[in-house]
Amino acid sequence: MPRQTLSQHPALQRMLAGFKGFRALYYEQRPERIKDLMEGSQRPEVLLIACSDSRVDPAIVTNAEPGELFIVRNVANLVPPYQPDDGYHGTSAAIEYAVTALKVAHVVVLGHSNCGGIQALAAHLDGHQVDGQFVGPWIRQLEGCRCASETTGDSTADATRLEQCAILNSLDNLMTFPFIAERVKDGTLTLNGWWFDMTEARLWGATPEHRTFQVLTD
Ligand SMILES: [Zn+2]
Repeated sequence: MPRQTLSQHPALQRMLAGFKGFRALYYEQRPERIKDLMEGSQRPEVLLIACSDSRVDPAIVTNAEPGELFIVRNVANLVPPYQPDDGYHGTSAAIEYAVTALKVAHVVVLGHSNCGGIQALAAHLDGHQVDGQFVGPWIRQLEGCRCASETTGDSTADATRLEQCAILNSLDNLMTFPFIAERVKDGTLTLNGWWFDMTEARLWGATPEHRTFQVLTD
């Protein structure tokens, strides 16, 4: 799109202004930091698997700097089970690269409140059709997950439980990847599930061993 045409699209124009701010902050004010990042390869210590939701950008939420987080985002921050076939497994490819090539020390699955993907799952469990040729099957991978069948009738509590259950399910699925199970066993990789309460601005956390979510930040 020609530059003059961009000015007719405020959302894109806003992104260009944002980019200039980013460039000023890192390339002009802290060139040594950028130089360090450009020399050699990236060395992030964390693989973060987050939702595509525009309100939960992991770099913004964790105030991360360039080079700190290797991120894969998808609808509802799901990790599918290990499935070595010829399919186009984008999430699994990112996980494999982060763990085996970059050798990250930590994996964080970051879920969140008010998750549209999980709301679609709840609707599906209620017998409604999930729209979308791709979203439907993607979300339905959770229908067998342990707490999908438990409902309390309290929609907010049920949504939170499903969101957290989906995170735990992703942690379990991570362990089905042999290269992850091996590293967790030898202590070189940790698996963490975090849930971002957008309303209260708090992070909650659980692990494969400690499956009840606890507040991580006041
Ligand atoms: Zn979401």
